[in-house]
Amino acid sequence: MPMDFKMDIPSSSALNEGEEKDVVFDMAILGGGPAGLTAAVYAMRKQMSVIMISPDLGGQVLKTSGIENYMGFQYITGAELSQKFSEQAQLFSIKRLQESAIHLKQIENNRFVTRTDGGREITSRTLILATGKRWRKLNIPGEELYLGHGVVNCAVCDAPFFKGLPVVVAGGGNSAASAALDLIRLNCKVTLVNYSPGWQADPVLMKQLQGRVELLDQHQILEIQGEHDRVTGVKLMDRESKREHQLETSGVFIEIGLIPNTEVFKGFVALNEYLEISVDCATRTSRRGVFAAGDCTSVPEKQIIIAAGEGAKAALAAYHYITFQKH
Ligand SMILES: Cc1cc2nc3c(=O)[nH]c(=O)nc-3n(C[C@H](O)[C@H](O)[C@H](O)COP(=O)(O)OP(=O)(O)OC[C@H]3O[C@@H](n4cnc5c(N)ncnc54)[C@H](O)[C@@H]3O)c2cc1C
Repeated sequence: MPMDFKMDIPSSSALNEGEEKDVVFDMAILGGGPAGLTAAVYAMRKQMSVIMISPDLGGQVLKTSGIENYMGFQYITGAELSQKFSEQAQLFSIKRLQESAIHLKQIENNRFVTRTDGGREITSRTLILATGKRWRKLNIPGEELYLGHGVVNCAVCDAPFFKGLPVVVAGGGNSAASAALDLIRLNCKVTLVNYSPGWQADPVLMKQLQGRVELLDQHQILEIQGEHDRVTGVKLMDRESKREHQLETSGVFIEIGLIPNTEVFKGFVALNEYLEISVDCATRTSRRGVFAAGDCTSVPEKQIIIAAGEGAKAALAAYHYITFQKH
């Protein structure tokens, strides 16, 4: 495209009251994270009529402090990247409904109806499920307050920001052990805190940690403390002796697992043992006309660039499906 080319395209708009009646969209995208937004751009460039149903635009990226692994940006904040994503998607005439999907059904003529928590019913020829994952929480004081200011949910993403600092990793499974290993390599002083008795992480990982991190088995993190917008310590309890003590730390990595936002899809498409939507390599789910992309799927590795790529694939797969249907 020449440098001075300007696209003359209407921008996105909110769905007016009752506007959805008697309308069949080519595509309904559920979720406004990297997967959903990328799918929207690809679908609009294929001239499909698209509605995006999502309570927010940006998804988990909105909660990310800094990103160093999304190509094209050596460093960008989560707020900036999600702003860029939504600006690009909103250049196109996408209809937006700022609500959550609560029920899906298939009706005659291979149409799908999505009911939202605002009581709207959206009919579409295809669906892209891109509802992502949410981090399992400790649900303790300080966790929400310092999220992005020392409380970290993604070690792969944020560990480098803690180089050489004392950190606590919460969790006893493979992701916690891997996070601890990443942090040791960054010369962090690591304390690994496991709530349950016994470590669930693979022995090979635990062996690599022996003598290099402080292992606190059967301990509970009661509170994350801080001052001036940053984490300074945690309050811990030994669950056997009930003894409480303080630990100074600059970061708390919460690695106790992720929950896919797929409750709504149970019984509608096949889910795997981790409750992720099972997809094939073309993002097809178990139901024809329904595609899924990003963190809510069985695709390994949960990263922005992967979610965006899968979103692009899903939109193109849906486009091919519709083209085939129309003929
Ligand atoms: C703190 C943190 C730091 C991270 N750092 C990095 C990093 O540095 N680099 C990196 O590559 N990755 C990072 N990640 C991971 C990355 O953010 C995710 O892999 C990526 O956002 C997944 O995109 P997604 O679109 O699949 O899902 P999400 O971003 O989870 O978006 C899901 C969307 O679906 C919406 N939704 C949920 N339920 C419904 C429903 N029922 N109906 C309609 N909409 C719904 C949500 O509101 C949201 O808009 C980080 C994650 C976190 C939490």
